[in-house]
Amino acid sequence: MTDTAIHKHISKRTFIFIVIALLALLTGSLVAIANENKVTVLATQLNVRYGPGLSHEVLTQVQEDDQLQILGEENQWYKVRLSNNHIGWVASWLVENEEVSVDNRVMGRITGADVNIRQFSSTDSPAIGTVHSGEDYQILYTENDWVQILFNNRVAWIHSNYIERTDGTVSAEASQSSNFRIRLGMGPTNVRENPTTDSAIVTTIDEVTEFEVREEIDDWYGIELADGSQAFVASWLTETVDATIDIVETAQGNDTSSHYATSLAEATIVIDAGHGGYDPGAVARTGFTEKEVALNTSLILADSLRQAGANVIMTRDDDTFISLNDRVYYAHRAKADAFISIHYDAVEVPNTMSGTTTYYYSEAERELADSINQSLTEQGPLKNNGVRHGNFFVLRNNGQASVLLELGYLDNDYDITVVNTQSYQRTIADAIYNGLSNYFSP
Ligand SMILES: [Zn+2]
Repeated sequence: MTDTAIHKHISKRTFIFIVIALLALLTGSLVAIANENKVTVLATQLNVRYGPGLSHEVLTQVQEDDQLQILGEENQWYKVRLSNNHIGWVASWLVENEEVSVDNRVMGRITGADVNIRQFSSTDSPAIGTVHSGEDYQILYTENDWVQILFNNRVAWIHSNYIERTDGTVSAEASQSSNFRIRLGMGPTNVRENPTTDSAIVTTIDEVTEFEVREEIDDWYGIELADGSQAFVASWLTETVDATIDIVETAQGNDTSSHYATSLAEATIVIDAGHGGYDPGAVARTGFTEKEVALNTSLILADSLRQAGANVIMTRDDDTFISLNDRVYYAHRAKADAFISIHYDAVEVPNTMSGTTTYYYSEAERELADSINQSLTEQGPLKNNGVRHGNFFVLRNNGQASVLLELGYLDNDYDITVVNTQSYQRTIADAIYNGLSNYFSP
């Protein structure tokens, strides 16, 4: 090789490098946004792992209120730079974006009329809400044609065609669009004059009703009643509409923060309430249906797991039909650490079977099944039928660790007096919670 040839060779390389660098500058302007974002650790101690998921080893721990710089996002985990310049991964739901100073926020304005925002960066991912032309949202991250925004304190994705980076920043006040909807009246719910529990009760709502949130004061939502008057309801007595697919659900209140560092808090768990909509599942002769009790159990379980800091995704949180395919899809898209399908049973001949059973499909899921069944045996008020192999669609087609729980027989005269009670629902949900907690403990 002559000197000229070497020289030419280097020039060509340098040229290619410059082209790549220019392309990166042109197409990557939004990607750079991620570098401006800092997050604050909510946990007392939070594991930083070598990769985006529970299966990766712990690199180190960071402490509450530590600031981390976000470098990227994958599977709802943030790639972060630590103060010592080490790079690792943390569960995105255990850190808070709100501490980002207003000056550093990158805002985007919605340009489409009514645009669906989605759980993941894909049009076949479930829509988790709708945004409207002219609204501003904080941009967290950009990936290919998708922009990740903060929507009602949750992470959501919108196609880049429908959002434009605004110049300068928008004040935190303006970006706090509180026009989201809540549902209340799942049980009798007091609506009060002022945002405190000792304020006068305006009315009690005992039918499930949806309201638009006008304002948020501490843990209270300001709503407008049918007669146009303004009133307040405690946020913990309500559900956010469209909350089926919560990506980021951080536990509220300081009393739970000490649990954050557990592996359970780092876990992404899909709770799958069986049946729903026109599919009632089994029906007790007293009239209640499997889809109802399965949903009750699932909601209680989801709530405790969220209190512990876990990232909980529900395949349904109301009376909706969801295909078996979609149920499995949720687990795959979320790369769930566990998929728990909740059912109640029935057999051909009534009163021949009673109690609870834990089903798994592949041997790899045996540990999860054993752990949950152990708690069901210890805490469950009904007889336990043990752990069994089960050829169910949601297990067989599930690449994530999955189990299916049958929590009582709706064709058994004794079981039906037990399972449709608040105390059974609570007890059985706690047992499943403990089984999961043991499974995820280091
Ligand atoms: Zn079922």
